[in-house]
Amino acid sequence: MNKKIINKVIENNQVTNLTDYQECYQGFNWPNETQQPNIAYQAVDSHLNTPNEDKVALRWLGKKNQSIDFTYLDLAKQTSRFASVLHTLGFEQGNRVFSLAGRLPLLYIAALGTLKAGSVFTPLFSAFGPEPIRSRMEIGEANVLITTMSLYRKKVAKWWRELPHLKAVLLIDGSGELDDGCYALTELMALADASFACVQTSPEDMALLHFTSGTTGKPKGVVHVHQAVLAHKSSAYYALDLHATDIYWCTADPGWVTGTTYGIIAPLCLGATMIVDEAEFEVERWYHILEQQKVSVWYSAPTAIRLLMKAGEGIRAQYDLSNLRFIASVGEPLNPEAVIWSEQVLGLPFHDNWWQTETGAIMIANYASMPIKPGSMGLPLPGIEAGIVKRAKQENSLQDKQQDKQQDKQGKLELITRANEIGELALKEGWPSMFRGYLHQNEKYQRCFKQGWYLSGDLAYKDEQGYYWFVGRADDLIKSSGHLIGPFEVESALMEHEDVIEVGVIGIPDDIAGELVKAYVTLKSDVEPSEQLQKELKGFARKKLGAAVAPKEIVFRQNLPKTRSGKIMRRLLKARELGLPEGDISTLESDEQ
Ligand code: ATP
Ligand code: MG
Repeated sequence: MNKKIINKVIENNQVTNLTDYQECYQGFNWPNETQQPNIAYQAVDSHLNTPNEDKVALRWLGKKNQSIDFTYLDLAKQTSRFASVLHTLGFEQGNRVFSLAGRLPLLYIAALGTLKAGSVFTPLFSAFGPEPIRSRMEIGEANVLITTMSLYRKKVAKWWRELPHLKAVLLIDGSGELDDGCYALTELMALADASFACVQTSPEDMALLHFTSGTTGKPKGVVHVHQAVLAHKSSAYYALDLHATDIYWCTADPGWVTGTTYGIIAPLCLGATMIVDEAEFEVERWYHILEQQKVSVWYSAPTAIRLLMKAGEGIRAQYDLSNLRFIASVGEPLNPEAVIWSEQVLGLPFHDNWWQTETGAIMIANYASMPIKPGSMGLPLPGIEAGIVKRAKQENSLQDKQQDKQQDKQGKLELITRANEIGELALKEGWPSMFRGYLHQNEKYQRCFKQGWYLSGDLAYKDEQGYYWFVGRADDLIKSSGHLIGPFEVESALMEHEDVIEVGVIGIPDDIAGELVKAYVTLKSDVEPSEQLQKELKGFARKKLGAAVAPKEIVFRQNLPKTRSGKIMRRLLKARELGLPEGDISTLESDEQ
């Protein structure tokens, strides 16, 4: 695809000559200053008195196969009731409301109701243990917690009174006699004002506080403002091709940024019908939902996709997926193999897109209207200026961290215009969903910006057609015999072997080469690990990658350590390999042991 076609891509999406975000927004009916820039208003109340009012906004599917529909009007009333509960209890604009609940309808209502009240919403993943819950609530200075009776008893009851800012716990299924400071939310909602008007917020008011996945270290509290909704809405339109006529399913939990931005806010802003499934991943269940609910746009993640691949084509053949028209993936690099598989087996290719908790919305994507290059993240969204940059004297700094700090302060950024050269993925600062801070870590926040660019910490390159290719996180880069090796390239090559289902690659110290490439491989369930297979995989990788890049060591694992949001924790593979402390493992889900 050449430059002309890239321009055409943008034309197909009806945007031309975009220089800044303002131009993208013109088509989105963004209110002027005298109207409401509140996220909840955009997502819910803006549909009142329109043909969307009686349309299903949210269809909730329960674990026991129950189903409840909420129209846009229902959501407007329920979210008003929740906002009114907060106000009646004395909570004000700017107060912090945390949630700790499974994917229950009230979680979604509380998220939007909190924003409607002008308060700040922070979702926590319900499978967290007491310690990660407590530490996040301490950092975030939580004023209110919404949870269920059982989660409260198991994880919160013992310590919540020690948190100085926390004044109330709203129990979704609470009833009867409750601890002091605890309230039966459903009962309060029944008495509350269903016509509570959305609080007028300014575009720069804090709206969301999200914690990062903790893949590379201690999770950070990321601050977003109401203005982010511009990017939520427009990015879903461009990158997910989402329209009001769609039945849409985002499989991410609202405990992570994807599950909030694209699992609550964006689909509602665009007037779509969104599916929420309370249950956890299960191959048959997922295929069944896609078929039965006639899902047309589906947004998921590489881990789930790899599990579907592992389950095989026989299961998929039992379902009619003819309503699906667009499928997308985010969160981790999507190996080319997965894109090819989905095209063959699902009949549609997965469209990879890239963003971070910090960016608040999709920044780079394979659009519906452009040919996908499997393995590539695609092109920047309209209004987003991306670039590949090098911090000054990066080579030296890799060897000497102290020196790096010195140079980092003074050094200039070099914008790499040469195709296929690896550098740090950067974004021109100023897009609406750009994070406005790391809570209580201003210096860390400032360090992310240089000469007008936000530095993402991810390494990538841009090809001749402008497509971006993920190489790895800067922390995960391997330096072996003078070569810089991104783990993704090695992982993807091994993924092409028919017996392999998942791979995590790290560098291990070596006296001569500096570092050696080591791969941890998960095999398909019906494949036995053997020395023979180890040798075969090494040879397979050498053929694809060359001897300098191919792994010198390959070991088999039943599972790889992952965050609860599904990302392989390479730092943990490394710490274990080297017998080093494991660091923050609050978001660790499955263990390799
Ligand atoms: P932490 O910052 O705490 O280490 P995290 O970076 O995993 O955690 P998130 O903000 O949830 O937390 O994830 C963003 C990161 O996920 C990106 O910086 C990138 O490394 C990875 N990522 C997201 N989408 C893609 C993609 N399409 N391809 C490759 N990597 C991706
Ligand atoms: Mg990160």
